[in-house]
Amino acid sequence: MSSSVTSRRPEHDADLMALDALIDAHAGEAEQLLVELVGVPSVNPVQPGVDAGAYRGGETRANELLGEWLRRSGMETHLVEADQGRANLVGVRAGTGGGRSLAFNGHIDTVAPQRGRFADPWKAEREGNLLYGLGATDMKAGHAAMWLAVEALRRAGVELAGDLQIHSVVGEETMSHQVGTSAVLDAGFTVDAALIPEPTSTGERLLQVANTAAGNYLFSVTVRGRSTHWASRGLAIRAGGGGDSVGVNAIDKAVYVYNAMRQLEEQWAFSKVHPQFPPGAFIIHPGVLHADIGFPAAPYFPDRARFDYLLSFPPGETSEQIRAEVEGHLTTAASLDPWLREHPIEFEWIDTWPPAYTDPASEFARAAMAARNDAVAGVGGAALDGPGPNGAQSDASFYEARGIPALVCGPGDLLVAHAADEAVNVEMIPVAAKMMVRTALGWCA
Ligand SMILES: [Zn+2]
Repeated sequence: MSSSVTSRRPEHDADLMALDALIDAHAGEAEQLLVELVGVPSVNPVQPGVDAGAYRGGETRANELLGEWLRRSGMETHLVEADQGRANLVGVRAGTGGGRSLAFNGHIDTVAPQRGRFADPWKAEREGNLLYGLGATDMKAGHAAMWLAVEALRRAGVELAGDLQIHSVVGEETMSHQVGTSAVLDAGFTVDAALIPEPTSTGERLLQVANTAAGNYLFSVTVRGRSTHWASRGLAIRAGGGGDSVGVNAIDKAVYVYNAMRQLEEQWAFSKVHPQFPPGAFIIHPGVLHADIGFPAAPYFPDRARFDYLLSFPPGETSEQIRAEVEGHLTTAASLDPWLREHPIEFEWIDTWPPAYTDPASEFARAAMAARNDAVAGVGGAALDGPGPNGAQSDASFYEARGIPALVCGPGDLLVAHAADEAVNVEMIPVAAKMMVRTALGWCA
């Protein structure tokens, strides 16, 4: 609940001047919150290669810390714990009634620490305008901006008609939305729109608004061979030999699969298009190739070969459709090869992130664009005509899956997210907060 004693409709310009002044006045505290949040190791405990025992509970501790700040700023807070030791935080600032509600969503989990310039990834280091630390850009600076927006609204005594919520969620880095954003929505904290301050400020392009993102799929393709002595290759592949009955080199079959997949990728250059993405944006990327007989030894025919692929696909298509298309294409190609016909390609569909899309002409997108352009004008930023694609996935997909429009716009820099020396330009935090209060005024008032 807001602790403000005066209840009034925002007198837009006067309120904005007051809000901007309060945001500037309290930006130092927002930076202090960022330093404190970076100081809590909230590494996502279920990432590959991470010692889960070392990190489980960190997300909860970071959210408890944020909860103290939100309560001081007049928000009612709730913990939503769908996975033990991994609590989401919800902050609620009740509206006066009759308005649309809005959530600011930020994931509190970070990727694992990497070896960088600084000995301690959880000790924030300031150099010039840049604040270094694990999670600084992705995306605890977004949390700092959310708090600053809420604090300015409280201090200014501005009431909104609709509820304003903060969803500080766990599990985003591993797309564990069932225990994060989706768990918060399942717990009843639904909203009419969501703004996600993930990093979208790179170089001169401040606070870009993203309404869409490609879907992706991580999967593996395995082909089998028949092991034999390397010297039998002539008998296996040349006229007069025994052919496949002598041996089948799984690498040869892997190249066959590789070429079929390339052919599909070439087709995608024309068949997979979206007006907001450049031509050729959707790809089928081979990332790992492994082939041997169970141990690395050249004097044998390898009897197994496995590719790990990552593909991206346009909004409007589903993960299920893409999976069926890839399997159909490779299975058809395999039907032309006698060995692969008898020894089918094995698929493992490991992980998918659905695409994101909110109509760029929707009222929420127009409200957010106006808010963005007005906020960046204050620091000499150029106006943008409309929202664009996000270079990364986000929890926007999981609001949209429930029909809730969701946009991404935040102070961090995607180019250094997940990098060894992650940093954020702290001067972007108050600019992001100004964008957020404008969006709230435009949408919830
Ligand atoms: Zn992120």
